[in-house]
Amino acid sequence: MKDLLTALPLGGLGEIGMNGLVLSYQGRRLLIDCGVMFPDAMEASADLILPDLRFFAEHGDSIGAMVLTHGHEDHIGAVPFVLKQASMPVYGSPFTLGLVERRLKEHGLLERADLRLLEPYMRHDGPVYPPELPDFGLSLIRVTHSIPDAASLVIHTPKGVVLHTGDFKIDPHPIDKQHFDHNAFRNLGDHGVLLMLSDSTNAQVPGHTRSEQETLENIEERVQHWRGRIFITQFASNLHRLLGLEAMAKRCGRRLCLVGRSLHTYTNIAKKVDMPCIDVDDLLPVEQLPDTPDDEVMVVMTGSQGEFRSALGRASRNEHRHIAFKKGDRLLMSARFIPGNEASIFDLVNDLSRLGVDVIHPLMAPIHTSGHARQEELKTMLELVRPHMFVPIHGTHAFLKAHRGLAEDCGVHDTLIVENGKEFAAEPERGLFVVDEHPMDTYYYDGMHTGDADALGLNERKKLFFNGAVSAFVQLPHRNRPYQPKVTLQSVGLYTDSDRLLTGGAAEVEEELATLGRDTTISEIEAWTQRIVRRFFRRQTKRKPLVMTTVIQEENR
Ligand SMILES: [Zn+2]
Repeated sequence: MKDLLTALPLGGLGEIGMNGLVLSYQGRRLLIDCGVMFPDAMEASADLILPDLRFFAEHGDSIGAMVLTHGHEDHIGAVPFVLKQASMPVYGSPFTLGLVERRLKEHGLLERADLRLLEPYMRHDGPVYPPELPDFGLSLIRVTHSIPDAASLVIHTPKGVVLHTGDFKIDPHPIDKQHFDHNAFRNLGDHGVLLMLSDSTNAQVPGHTRSEQETLENIEERVQHWRGRIFITQFASNLHRLLGLEAMAKRCGRRLCLVGRSLHTYTNIAKKVDMPCIDVDDLLPVEQLPDTPDDEVMVVMTGSQGEFRSALGRASRNEHRHIAFKKGDRLLMSARFIPGNEASIFDLVNDLSRLGVDVIHPLMAPIHTSGHARQEELKTMLELVRPHMFVPIHGTHAFLKAHRGLAEDCGVHDTLIVENGKEFAAEPERGLFVVDEHPMDTYYYDGMHTGDADALGLNERKKLFFNGAVSAFVQLPHRNRPYQPKVTLQSVGLYTDSDRLLTGGAAEVEEELATLGRDTTISEIEAWTQRIVRRFFRRQTKRKPLVMTTVIQEENR
């Protein structure tokens, strides 16, 4: 097994988000990307979903380095949590490391972090070999995506070259003029690629993604002749679109105003690492909005997913200090609806509509474009690289399968579909095969602590949400008195028929406990009480509440 070149997906396969993959050779490991996932409504009591941290606690010593393809949270969000378990150098492009730096600072880890720059180009002086991992040579190839400085990762190993595409699309006209590096991929293909791992997010969608340029033109059409104020919501990390909006504002005689902390954060980091960036000195301060003529205003704000606490969320409820929507305002929602968020987004749209805002969202007009390659672009990548073996990554099972189909259409026949936890080998003579299976647990961060769902009480919280809770207080009589336990019930989040169910339930528990007799132990009484209370409420309310029992023995008076 040690002599094999293996890959183990820790996240992002069989699901969307929380991307992370470990490459191993001779017992030494390279971690590629280290992302988080955002909880859906049911898990909303946690802030973040993290990869299996136990894996890093157990195998941390063997992981020589981490390398990041780009700065989206589903690729870098777990870096601080992993570095708390195991220390290792972190490689990435300048903007990506700028974002990592900010996260590490928040967690108080920046001082002892070892961040190492990797410029996204096929380097003429060859790949970079981390001293901790002499068998893995790293280099990055520029790709286009919905965040600056995104790259594919090339790993030179003793068994051959591995290409991890990261997230990408092929945008022929990137706003920042940082082009998808066709030549580098073709060149790589000419020299032979053993294994290619590629982004499957849009593998089921035919055609090409719309270019950023065309998307901006579609937005401009809806800005040009509008007399009132323009508001645009987008993902804060999409600095290309922001650059395009800056130019558009100038053409339309409007001034750009940014509202939402993360827009400023991303912009400041871009400026700091010298990436193409909007002119922050020329922005319209939000305090000056009321004094600026309506047709000279273009506000870009956060909150495209209907997030309650975002700038747009607060403004839609008239709770924003500086923004009061009015009739004649137009809002362009230039972001996709992330599955699971639709309900809050449409609530927001309706709130805004009530305030007289003209809302245009991406289901109504082509004012957003994806950062992920569609089928024709995925095929172009396969045709440029012509790998010997192919494993689709980043996607649910159906996406992975669709991507494998595309690879086969392009003449790549040694393929494998794996999901998280399945370690597979890529051997020049033997091809692709699964070598081991690692059970993966999900970890969570609740804003202060990390742990699995049990440790953070998330499973119970979910039960509480559906079933409510009952607390039972049982008083056992002194041994000189007749054995007649007294029970009091209290509840949260349950129908009680004006407390009648609480007294009824208590009586039922009292009656049954009385039949048990004096020899019953306290823990037996607790168990009986739980069972009777749950049975009672199931019968009366069709709910199975959480039951907390306290038993006390009455002292002799
Ligand atoms: Zn991405």
